[in-house]
Amino acid sequence: MSTPTIGVLALQGDVREHLTALATADALARPVRRPEELDDLDGLVIPGGESTTMSKLAVVFGMLEPLREFVRSGKPVYGTCAGMIMLADKLLDGRADQETLGGIDMIVRRNAFGRQNESFEAAVEVAGIAGGAVQGVFIRAPWVESTGAVVEVLASYDGHTVAVRQGNVLATSFHPELTGDHRVHAYFVDMVRAGA
Ligand code: GLN
Repeated sequence: MSTPTIGVLALQGDVREHLTALATADALARPVRRPEELDDLDGLVIPGGESTTMSKLAVVFGMLEPLREFVRSGKPVYGTCAGMIMLADKLLDGRADQETLGGIDMIVRRNAFGRQNESFEAAVEVAGIAGGAVQGVFIRAPWVESTGAVVEVLASYDGHTVAVRQGNVLATSFHPELTGDHRVHAYFVDMVRAGA
């Protein structure tokens, strides 16, 4: 599989930027809104946006269980910011009725940096990404409050975990899709190639 097909969950959020980043990283990228569109994907990206809205729309569109099933299937999934929140097994400061998909044994605190700083950029060293720090764009970003034993911490900022991987599931608090530096997407595309 030289060119994997990777979906971007397109219920809400910065879908277009992920499609562009994935295409630049040599994947065939396409938006996904319906359960049957998950069927022939090799991997999936869950974009940044607003996790409470994304959760609500996933329920309305009948996507919640199919997405959980996709994550359970072991196919690679990458979530940025709101997407990280969606991949958390446990959530703090979520809305009462907010659903996540789960997939990473971690507790994520929603809007965690937001209490100090609405949005900011910072250089972040990410384990497994060669070529120096990536520019982390944090927008009302979550952080990872704690992780289970099987979770690899790939990056921290200011003492807080901001990038993690558990098997084939990857998540970052920040938005590499907004920077024009597509190394994190290339890392994910490599995960998808290896996972096939
Ligand atoms: N604060 C948003 C949420 O709770 C996430 C922000 C983002 O994705 N940039 O979903």
